[in-house]
Amino acid sequence: MHSEYDVIIVGGGAAGIGAARRLAANDASALLLEASSRLGGRAFTQDLGGHPLDLGCEWLHSGDRNAWVGIAEASGFPVDRNDPPWAKAHPGIAWSEDDEEAARKAFGNWEERLRVVAQASDRASDAMEPGGEWNPYVRAIAGFMSGVAPEAVSATDYLAYDDASTGKNWNLPLGYGTLVAASLPPSVTLRLATPVEQIDLTADGVAVSTRAGTIRAKAAILTVSTAVLAGDALRLPPGTEPWREAAAALPLGCNEKVFLEITRESAFEPDSHAYGNLRDARSAAYSIRPNGWPVIEAFLGGEGARILDDEGPAAMFAFVSAELTGLFGGDVASAVRPLAATSWSQMASIGGAYSCALPGQSSARARLARPFEERLFFAGEATHPFDFTTAHGAHDSGQRAADEALAALRDRDRQGGRVASAEPTRPAG
Ligand SMILES: Cc1cc2nc3c(=O)[nH]c(=O)nc-3n(C[C@H](O)[C@H](O)[C@H](O)COP(=O)(O)OP(=O)(O)OC[C@H]3O[C@@H](n4cnc5c(N)ncnc54)[C@H](O)[C@@H]3O)c2cc1C
Repeated sequence: MHSEYDVIIVGGGAAGIGAARRLAANDASALLLEASSRLGGRAFTQDLGGHPLDLGCEWLHSGDRNAWVGIAEASGFPVDRNDPPWAKAHPGIAWSEDDEEAARKAFGNWEERLRVVAQASDRASDAMEPGGEWNPYVRAIAGFMSGVAPEAVSATDYLAYDDASTGKNWNLPLGYGTLVAASLPPSVTLRLATPVEQIDLTADGVAVSTRAGTIRAKAAILTVSTAVLAGDALRLPPGTEPWREAAAALPLGCNEKVFLEITRESAFEPDSHAYGNLRDARSAAYSIRPNGWPVIEAFLGGEGARILDDEGPAAMFAFVSAELTGLFGGDVASAVRPLAATSWSQMASIGGAYSCALPGQSSARARLARPFEERLFFAGEATHPFDFTTAHGAHDSGQRAADEALAALRDRDRQGGRVASAEPTRPAG
């Protein structure tokens, strides 16, 4: 049966768009199938209160080696290279500088002890100081990084990211999601609102089934999140169980954002930052008036983000209002109003924030990144060896998978169209 495309890309997030750009640059014909009604996945900028706010990725981490910086500049998107707000504590808040310093030091000590733990249990919680005064702060920051409690974090995995990070965190004032969604090359065919339900191997490629029918291609690149891969909404060919097991060892953590609009003139310092409560593991990190806008963005991770999932947005707004009152005093609640809250964990096509290897499972990333039968290629943030959890890691993984697919197609051409490896399975329908 004739292949309609060289490659079908499943998922239109940063990884799918990274793959599409590489395929287009090599004149391969590509179809991108995206389940939701928009491009970008976990990169999503929404106009809220007249400002382009990022509901998902926001920071160009490792900005000095982040592929999206080059893409932004080539497309005329401004890049803000100033220090991020968390480098500038909001003046005059309730925490003493000594306490902040002690909490930061405790976190640094925990990170150092992770190196010992990585050689032993690999469970990041084993690096916590028993009864440590600042353990709630360590848990809160670990929750921002990983989206889960340290009990569920591989120390090896955590350190792989940390050691590779360059510490440059830049920003896109028009929104990271705006850039990602604008970066699909026009030569790639796009079908939105088209969830892939099943992928089968055929004698010479793949058959990708959607509600609208089955489409054939020489290869497919799968970029869906590990929550989707490990779930049962997408059926993969027999033999891919080890890939699903690898995805299950890299579950998505829980990170959410809450946006508040500042409704009256108040003394909030632009582009500054505050932690809600240094002694509460659920506490949020507050970005105050980002880009000077009258907005406060609360970022929650792990236990804090679960408040939103377990109790809903009203409880979450009440929680952040109480923290802001603790920080800024009694009349702050009347100066802000709820704008929006995210729900990444509740979205069936995403299922969480970003991947985190379970203790002892850091090798799952490499296992997930392997091609299957030279026809099915895996990308997505979780497959990157060290820039996992990020939009640039996702992009680079898409480019890597596209290179693998292109090489496999070239090999196949040399062999007269035959797939070198194992038994094909029957396509669905
Ligand atoms: C709150 C939050 C804050 C973050 N902050 C940052 C940050 O500051 N900097 C940073 O670099 N990263 C950040 N990230 C992480 C970053 O957003 C992700 O790592 C990255 O966007 C993931 O891209 P991806 O392409 O791997 O996956 P996704 O973006 O999840 O893309 C996969 C796509 O597949 C689609 N899909 C799912 N199932 C199907 C199906 N059956 N058929 C077709 N399509 C399907 C999904 O709808 C989705 O569009 C943040 C994430 C969150 C949630």
